[in-house]
Parts: sequence; structure tokens; C-alpha cells
Amino acid sequence: QAHLAAIEALNGRLNAFITITAERALDAARRADAVLAGQDAPALTGIPLGIKDLFCTDGVRTTAASRMLEDFVPPYESTVTANLLRDGAVFVGKTNLDEFAMGSANITSAFGAVENPWKRTGEPDTVLVPGGSSGGSAAAVAAGLAMGATGTDTGGSIRQPAAYCGIAGIKPTYGRCSRWGTIAFASSLDQAGPMARTVEDCAILLQSMAGFDVRDSTSVDVPVPEYRAACGRSLKGMKVGIPAEYRVAGMPAEIEAAWEQGIAWLRDAGCEIVNVSLPHTKYGLATYYIVAPAECSSNLARYDGVRFGRRVPGESLDALYEATRREGFGPEVRRRILMGTYVLSAGYYDAYYLRAQKVRHLIRRDFEEAFRMVDVLLTPTAPSPAFAQGEKMDDPVQMYLNDVFTVPASMAGVPAMSVPAGLSGSGLPLGLQVIGRSFDEETVIAAGSAIE
Ligand code: GLN
Repeated sequence: QAHLAAIEALNGRLNAFITITAERALDAARRADAVLAGQDAPALTGIPLGIKDLFCTDGVRTTAASRMLEDFVPPYESTVTANLLRDGAVFVGKTNLDEFAMGSANITSAFGAVENPWKRTGEPDTVLVPGGSSGGSAAAVAAGLAMGATGTDTGGSIRQPAAYCGIAGIKPTYGRCSRWGTIAFASSLDQAGPMARTVEDCAILLQSMAGFDVRDSTSVDVPVPEYRAACGRSLKGMKVGIPAEYRVAGMPAEIEAAWEQGIAWLRDAGCEIVNVSLPHTKYGLATYYIVAPAECSSNLARYDGVRFGRRVPGESLDALYEATRREGFGPEVRRRILMGTYVLSAGYYDAYYLRAQKVRHLIRRDFEEAFRMVDVLLTPTAPSPAFAQGEKMDDPVQMYLNDVFTVPASMAGVPAMSVPAGLSGSGLPLGLQVIGRSFDEETVIAAGSAIE
């Protein structure tokens, strides 16, 4: 009830939720009360969560923040949300996002932009973006509309909004959480993960979300460790790598300072700091913005006006496709589909897509090499704190540059977390990113809990 009241009071301004499921939530909460009265209540019994509106929820509208799926009610539950329900969680609603998770500021949603609950010191009227694409989840958690939320991360969509809203968020190893029932953006990159106010809360949520699933062919059958036990674990002797290539030109001094502070905290906790090199980092963004749109153009081909979602009638089948897709997709999604079909076209495939896949392999190898020497890497999460709504908006490339620090770990498939690490000069939260070895979220969580 407290969380629903907070949603009632603040969602009109923040626009963090697309759909609020108050009745369902209260029913579930009543059932949770009964479970809590007994013994052995599952770990998340009664915990109010926001669910990014990219996870299919049985009987609850799931829009991907697109006009295309405005009225789509899935007849099934995604594996990740089913896992959370199994453990007793209560869903208060579906959170806003960039359309089909494409964006870094939560401004491309067909349901309107999300507002960051934080303000710059002395600028109460400047509206800041919450980051994206999981901006609704981040804003909801930061403002106390939910205790935690699910996000998805293809190139930074959990980590960057977590950093902008002063919360923690983990992108697990690719294959750790099932993608079944999560609306696809770029299938070789998409990963679900938790967003919460503390690293420990993220660890508890990830425990429930993670695990092998036969319905996702890229889900990996390895045991899920006790993540919570990693919180507060001793870091004595842990080797922390500082990648030289992340010291990009033009990085604001306050981001540099937060990074130095994080390094100092980890050194104080007993870590050894090691300079490392990830030489192909500079190709990360360029290759991501080939691979992700290519996969998006293929995944979004299913929205044809016939199978599900919006249908705009036409004189012929082709006319129906065209009318449906013209009305259903917003400008950023169209841009991605155009880029994707271009780089996959005969004559360009070898020059762009195939080449990007080769570079991706080199990026992955950089991480493997680094993790021979160190246990985790520490970097900033984003090159700036939250920016104002309206900034970077007329130039898509400016927006893409914002993903410079998050994209490489996505390309490599390794786990990465954003942890709150103090405030900028303007009073805004800054995040630091801890990147770890494949399937070693535990060490990432251990290091993260020493920073927050
Ligand atoms: N900002 C990146 C993009 O626009 C990442 C999005 C995501 O991780 N879903 O593609």
C-alpha cells in the first residue's frame, strides 16, 4: 500500500510506470501476508517490484514502450518474472523504457519520457533524464515507488540508468538469466538483471532471476552460487585492473575523481591495483552500433501487423505491412532498422556485419587476456552524470557516445555492475562499473559492496 501510494503521488510527474497493477498487487500482497504468517516463506515474499515493460507478463499488457504493442497482452509469463513470482515477489506495475529498449535517456518511449527524481543543486526546474533504456525501473527504485526492479541490458541499459539515478544494477553474464519471454532487441547481447538501492538487494534479486532454462538455447547450465554471501566478503589480495583505454579524452574531471576515489576505496579494502590494457576498446561503440541494429532489424521483422500487436489495414499485404510499421514504430526504432538492414544487405554484409563480428571477437579476447592478470576491472559507468532533457537529442551519434564505457562488457558477454559512488559537483549521483569474469558475478558483487 505504501508503494502504491508513492506511485499515486509521484508517477504523474516521473512517468516511471506505463501500467500500474494495483489490484493484482494488493491481491498478491494479501496472499504474501498469509505466507509470511507460516514458515519458510520464499526470499521475496511480499517484496514490491517494478517490471520493465519488456518482460512478458501473463494477462498484463506488455508494450515495449511502443505503439506497435500498445494493446498487447501476453498469454504467458517470461521465465525471469516467473522466477520472481515463484519466490513471492509482488509486481506493482510495468516500468517505462526507451521504445524496444533502444536508447540511453528514456526519451524514445511512445508513452512519454521518464523524469529523473534527482535535481542539480540549485536547479529545481531543470528536468534530468533517468538514463536508458531501463529509465522507468531506475527512477521507480530511486524514488521509492518499488523496492527493486528488473532491467534489461543490451549495451548498458541497466548500468547507465542505475548510475544516473544513484542505485545499483547488475548486467549478469550473457546466458545467466533466461531470455525467454523477454521481448528481443539484439539477441546475442540482451541480458536481464536486477536494479535496486543496494548491492545486497541486487544480489538477492539476481538469485531469484538467474538459472538455466531449456526454453532459451543460449541460457547456460551452470550452478547459481549464493550471491548474497559475496556481499561484504574480504577483498584481501584481490587484483583490480584499471584499463588505460577508458581514460577517454574530454572526460569530465568529476568522473575522473570518482574513479580515483573508487580505486582508493578498493586499495583500502586490501586490493592490489594493476594497470591493464584493453586495446580494442576504441572499436567497441562502432561495432556495437552495427551488431545491435543488425539483430534488431531481424528481430523486429516479426511485427508485421499479422501475427500480433498493431494492425493497420491496407489494400494489399504489402500495404498492410507498410502502414502497420509506419504507424507502429517511432523514429529511433526506424533508424535502427534502417541501419540494420543496410549492414546486412548483399554487398555490405562482409564490409560491415562480418567485420564487426570479427572485431567483437577481439574485444572479447582483450577481456580474457586482462582476466588472466586481474579478478575485476574498475571503470566509470558513464562519461557524465545525468544530463538535461533536451540535451544530446537532435544528434543520435552524441547519444550513442554515451554508451562508451558500458558497451565493451556487453560485446564480451561478461558480467558488469554499476554501483553508486558519490555525488558530482552539481549534486548528482555518479556510478562506477565493476566488470568481472564470465559467470563470476560473485566477485563483482564482492567488489561492488566494498564501493557503495
Ligand atoms: N543505449 C544503448 C542503445 O541504445 C543500449 C540499450 C540497451 O542496453 N538496451 O542501444
